[in-house]
Amino acid sequence: MNQGGFMGIHILHLVGREILDSRGNPTLEVDLGTAKGWFRASVPSGASTGSHEALELRDRESSRYLGKGVQICIRHIQNRLDPAIQKLTFSSAREVDQWLIEQDGSENKTNLGGNTLLAVSMAAHRAFASLANQPLFEYLNKTYFGSRSMTTPTPFMNVINGGKHADNGIQIQEFMIVPHFRNQQKSVHDKVRAGVEIYHHLKKQLSQAGHSTNVGDEGGFAPGLHHEHEAMDFILEAIRKAGYQVGSDVGLALDIAATEFYRNEKYFLHGPAEPLSAQALCEYYVKLLDDYPEIMSIEDPLAEDDWEGWRELSAAVKSRGRQLFLVGDDLLVTNPKRLNQAIERSACNAVLVKMNQIGTVSETIDTLNLALKADWQAIISHRSGETEDPYIAHLVTASGVEWLKAGAPCRSDRNCKYNELFRIYGNKNI
Ligand code: PEP
Ligand code: MG
Repeated sequence: MNQGGFMGIHILHLVGREILDSRGNPTLEVDLGTAKGWFRASVPSGASTGSHEALELRDRESSRYLGKGVQICIRHIQNRLDPAIQKLTFSSAREVDQWLIEQDGSENKTNLGGNTLLAVSMAAHRAFASLANQPLFEYLNKTYFGSRSMTTPTPFMNVINGGKHADNGIQIQEFMIVPHFRNQQKSVHDKVRAGVEIYHHLKKQLSQAGHSTNVGDEGGFAPGLHHEHEAMDFILEAIRKAGYQVGSDVGLALDIAATEFYRNEKYFLHGPAEPLSAQALCEYYVKLLDDYPEIMSIEDPLAEDDWEGWRELSAAVKSRGRQLFLVGDDLLVTNPKRLNQAIERSACNAVLVKMNQIGTVSETIDTLNLALKADWQAIISHRSGETEDPYIAHLVTASGVEWLKAGAPCRSDRNCKYNELFRIYGNKNI
């Protein structure tokens, strides 16, 4: 960074405030002031968080918002970051991130909080995009992806919610539809539209079968089903009813979030009466993949530190020649060190990318680029607690990565991401 007036941005002001996320919990929003104007960003929050994620700093004062307030982040911004940043000029948004990381000075952002750093980092990238007279996606593309060409994004839409995102008794957290249209050129509008139509057919079918169509945290339905097969069968039927081909037009994806039901080296996928070893669980997945050939992606099938289980499943899938994204979320936490470990151990072949797991925009993108360099798949992801900030629509567009996991097409905290894609892509068929 530069002391004094040379080309770049002089950040005049940082203002933090507490806003509410989609679950009604406080989260952090930042306004960053420059001579060119104000730039705003807000951070999401997970429920099934990996223990290796950057720290989400909260007040822990039980008398306020049940301990979930973020006044402590606001104080860090007001008392530490704002006075110090005013003396500096930055020539790139990455420099702002580096400065933030130095100010925190810890491995996992435990001093100032990953949420504090991320809100400032996101707003700073918006400011630099504006200085360059570019929309955010274009600035990120040119700055971090060597102008890598764009791909039409395909949504992973979580249409049935379970696990920690609903209270319906299904252990698997997410049942997603993926309208990828493998053999056809489709616009982002067509892909999102397919997801929406399937979602509404699913609602009709669940209702006709006497199930609740109340929704979970990510806008997917949360019916009281007894087994994951039932959930998938309803979804496959909805795809057909909507007039799409199962498999070639629309695939299935699961987020098992297995850390949530792992205790004492056993997996309780089917409740307390049926503990499964990692090996038994892997055998179960292999059978599931045979029974449901349309499953194209499984996220977090094993617990966050069960490296041996991951390696075993990865080897089993590979030996059968089965095409599958084996996605590390809690396993990798968007962290380059854990990603490198996974690459070395052949633990999986895809990374879920969540900005608040690592705590700055540039570090997120460094991890993403590391995965792309290793020829891995990457999925840009929301969190279960979201805000109205559509940042991830810009990130997926900038990166040239095809996959965006942004929830069901329901509730504005999810649909704002799809609506931003509509704005970015306009009538272009890219
Ligand atoms: C996920 O596990 O992929 C997810 C989006 O949920 P959460 O934000 O609760 O971690
Ligand atoms: Mg996950």
